[in-house]
Amino acid sequence: MIRVAKFGGSILTSGGDYLRAAEEVRKLHEHGGVIVVVSAMKGVTDKLIEAASSPGSAERIIEEVYESYSRALEEVGGAPRFSEDLYREYTNLASALWAVRVLGEVSPRARDYIVSFGERFSSIVMAAALESLGLKAVSLTGREAGIVTDDRFGEANPIYRVSRDLTRKTLLPLLGDGVVPVVTGFIGGTLDGAVTLLGRGGSDFSATLLASYLDAGEVLIYTVTGAVMSGDPRKIPYARPVDRMNFSEAAEVARLGLRKFHPRTFEPLIGSGVRVRITRVGGGSETVIDGVGGPPPVKAVTVYEDLAMVVVEGKTLPGRIGALAKAAGLLAGRGVNIVSIVQPPSETSMVFVVESGQAEEALEALEGLRREGYASNVYKEGHVSSVSVVGEGVISPGMMSRVHEIALGEGAKVVVWSPASPSISVLVEPRLTWKVANLLHDEVVLGG
Ligand code: ASP
Ligand code: MG
Repeated sequence: MIRVAKFGGSILTSGGDYLRAAEEVRKLHEHGGVIVVVSAMKGVTDKLIEAASSPGSAERIIEEVYESYSRALEEVGGAPRFSEDLYREYTNLASALWAVRVLGEVSPRARDYIVSFGERFSSIVMAAALESLGLKAVSLTGREAGIVTDDRFGEANPIYRVSRDLTRKTLLPLLGDGVVPVVTGFIGGTLDGAVTLLGRGGSDFSATLLASYLDAGEVLIYTVTGAVMSGDPRKIPYARPVDRMNFSEAAEVARLGLRKFHPRTFEPLIGSGVRVRITRVGGGSETVIDGVGGPPPVKAVTVYEDLAMVVVEGKTLPGRIGALAKAAGLLAGRGVNIVSIVQPPSETSMVFVVESGQAEEALEALEGLRREGYASNVYKEGHVSSVSVVGEGVISPGMMSRVHEIALGEGAKVVVWSPASPSISVLVEPRLTWKVANLLHDEVVLGG
């Protein structure tokens, strides 16, 4: 069975961390082929983004970044060729930033190239760590491994057929020779070779893409905390590890903020037999995510804070075809993301839930509806949090009435759900957030 092992930036902070990760890989390698996917070391991607946009401080930033990888490389004790590889990548990065400084602007293509270096450096250090433990390893960028994308820089979309063929051609022979390919997460490339990025947190997505292309059996995602918990343990004292989830539940908890996975992480695996294990280096409790999931109907309570409700009302709204399209267009025009929408069937008002940071934008955008005679009044109703109960069985009459009873009893304003998503969410005033979250957790999640 082929396994993909992904190590996130939060657990890669020193040479010791790379060695501990490599030791996990060594154990996995005793049981079959392993593809390693690495993120950049903690904090590096943010620094590179800063370097790309502030050429004045770029030199200092990339020196710092290079220093931290060199130090890690020294600690893992790799052969001299790894230091040479690392230095060569450093000079490539320095040249790219020099070009940006000369041109006085950074194109989306140049930005992706610059920001990709965190993962490039990281793959070299990981390959060195694996070799220190006696394994054969090669480092590859995502594009070298065969992940081909469109040219939507910053948030590129993989092209399935081409990538599947190419990754199989590149990686399967390496596995056949007993080599461990260390692939940079986050990075793809266009057919003609431009480097593209898969979006923030994209290494998770790289790992599941590779698993689906190679028909792997398992993806291991190593994180600081291991298992996904049934609620944020800092605020929900009785939170416990979730043993099993299915892909849509996992996507739902990720989207609702319980765990930071790339939003498309589970997409390549839907309909496949691949399973994902969210785990820790050195063992401990873990969560298994696959197409089947686990028995209890409700898995977790999630909290999405800092939201605001913007209300549009007007006597001319009911039956007015195109009013919502108009509103959505105005919001999109300002780059406002609609987190949730509520409209009573009387159509006398519409409520848009947006992140608080975008509330003023939203208000100004929706003022357009008033000016054009669609609405008589547009106002901000106030800040709210969304507390959600997630699990495949939650959309059942029994569960729904329990959630309603608890949340409405505590003064929740709105309950939102869709028959197509495994969650029910309640919007509450910020001060009630954790009280409602704990009640729902202890009654509905633990109560089963
Ligand atoms: N290093 C990238 C980021 O910070 C990708 C990742 O960590 O998955 O977004
Ligand atoms: Mg990450």
